[in-house]
Amino acid sequence: MTKARVLVIEDEEALRLALVDALRSEGFDVLEAADGERGLELALSEAPELVLLDLMLPKRDGFSVLRAIREDRLQSAVIVLSARGEEWDRIQGFEFGADDYVVKPFSTRELFGRMRAVLQRIEGKAPGLPVEAGKVTIGECVVDFSAYTFERKGARAGLSRKELELLRFLLDHEGQVLDRMRIQDAVWGRGNESTPRTVDMHVLKLRRKLEREPDHPRHILTVHGVGYRFSRTGEDARRS
Ligand code: CA
Repeated sequence: MTKARVLVIEDEEALRLALVDALRSEGFDVLEAADGERGLELALSEAPELVLLDLMLPKRDGFSVLRAIREDRLQSAVIVLSARGEEWDRIQGFEFGADDYVVKPFSTRELFGRMRAVLQRIEGKAPGLPVEAGKVTIGECVVDFSAYTFERKGARAGLSRKELELLRFLLDHEGQVLDRMRIQDAVWGRGNESTPRTVDMHVLKLRRKLEREPDHPRHILTVHGVGYRFSRTGEDARRS
């Protein structure tokens, strides 16, 4: 993860300088901004791999920066840094497309752990994650993205193109909380007749083919009030 370009948008000077120092000593190429306007400017002009984004910022708040970054279809990963740990903030962050969220105060070790996970995810280098099209095993199923085939316990089953694309997107963002709008944008694109409901319908269909017990999904997990989270190995949904 070294040499990735990281943009720190944080108005609290002591924290910003400490982060910049710590990141530089880890070998990152670091950019910094002390307010939201300058931060967004740098994000759009420099397209860093990762943005560390404070929420309470002068000139333009973090949510607005995040929304603008996503509207620009910028591929940068964003980790939100905030002193406000309420669930509401967490959900807002994910709705606007944050990849992760760290509550202040945090240790650099914790932050680096999150950063590593996020960067591996966007680089497709997480252990066990498919790097490119090919065969992927999900529970009892094997999906071949290059041959467009889907097998469950060795028996061929049909998966529509959209179902495959949805599955691909979920796989590529394994472990992340994905809100419906983001899934919809990525799989169906904007300006057509899809709605967040379209996402739900396809998730239901996919679950019927993929899950051993579609009513108790272990791979495509519902995150109430937000959207979905994917687990390739399978989790007990009743825990979350
Ligand atoms: Ca702040």
